[in-house]
Amino acid sequence: MKNEFPNRIRAEIDLGAAEKNFNALKGFLYDGFTKPACVVKADGYGHGDLQLMSLYQRLGVDFFCVSNTNEALRLRDGGCTGDILILSWFSPDDADVLSENNIIGTVVSREHAAALSGKASKPVRVHIKVDTGMGRVGLTADDPEQFAAEAAEIASMPNISVEGVFTHFAVADSRVESDVAYTENQKLKFLDAVNAAERLGVRFKHMHFLNSAATMYSYDSRSTLARLGIVLYGLRPAYSLHIPVAIEPVMSLKTVVSHVKTVHKGDSVSYGRTFTADGDRVIATVPCGYADGYPRLLSGNCEALIRGKRAKGVGKICMDQMMFDVTKIDGVSAGDEVTLIGRDGSEVISADVLAEACGTIGYEIVCGISKRVPRVYIGGDDPEAD
Ligand SMILES: *Cc1c(COP(=O)(O)O)cnc(C)c1O
Repeated sequence: MKNEFPNRIRAEIDLGAAEKNFNALKGFLYDGFTKPACVVKADGYGHGDLQLMSLYQRLGVDFFCVSNTNEALRLRDGGCTGDILILSWFSPDDADVLSENNIIGTVVSREHAAALSGKASKPVRVHIKVDTGMGRVGLTADDPEQFAAEAAEIASMPNISVEGVFTHFAVADSRVESDVAYTENQKLKFLDAVNAAERLGVRFKHMHFLNSAATMYSYDSRSTLARLGIVLYGLRPAYSLHIPVAIEPVMSLKTVVSHVKTVHKGDSVSYGRTFTADGDRVIATVPCGYADGYPRLLSGNCEALIRGKRAKGVGKICMDQMMFDVTKIDGVSAGDEVTLIGRDGSEVISADVLAEACGTIGYEIVCGISKRVPRVYIGGDDPEAD
């Protein structure tokens, strides 16, 4: 049997957890009205786009979202048979690549649509993006009649086939009253704009506005798709807010102890000498650093699980290594497993906790685990995993 576990560091991706998360989330949607559209952009939020796509496809998913043409082509070449929607702007130069690979693009403006139609030699399937208050891209919904006229114009362009319309919420992950009202207003603006376009005869197979947060906190079955991202991976859109579905993190980050030594009073550890021992301390070094995507901002403010116990990080996190104080953990030795994200016995460190500690969101932590960290797939039915 080949050794599938690289011994420096690995991101373990638990396909069993991913499957449970998907089933729980699907059960939450009003079946027959809202279809799950699995968002696997950014390499499936760092978890592996093809592996996750294959899993969801086996579970019956036939709609996937990515953020650019390359990601869409990866899915198609990797065996995706369902719809693939590029959520963000893409170059009109990609027009024929999209139609040849049956990929759906998003048009972000009338000009974008016109350029696309001009470059295309056959019709490109598109969804129209509506800006209802995210302030990023999209046709404005401030005046529904103007939106309707522009949508009708786009629908009449020769090489464009309009199939859908969607918007994106800015504060769906907040339960603060003014934010809830803002989201509700975005939705009303969107529905008004879509209705006005339909009165002009524009037909949309899909109209959608749910992301993970909106699905969890303000589910509305009028959205024909739920663009589920972060919750599929077992993280919450806002760490502090409970969600009504039981999910569990899919990614763990594991490494090993490379070296153990005792330092004495006055000895310092790592660059900048930010840690100086106040007495005898046992220090374990692990071969993971910020080049693996572990945030350097967490220097002196992080923990690892070793032998089922918590160890505090000491000194600056280096590019390829970091150090932990294991004085209080008996018998730590080189080769011991170290959990930086995930569970060891009864102790857990979540990506969300790391994110909180450095002032960001769990999304950035999992997306940031770098490409040099091998992904190891466990717990799935996939014969190539485990
Ligand atoms: C990334 C993205 C999503 C998924 O967001 P989550 O918060 O991860 O659910 C949905 N819609 C759009 C337009 C996106 O860009």
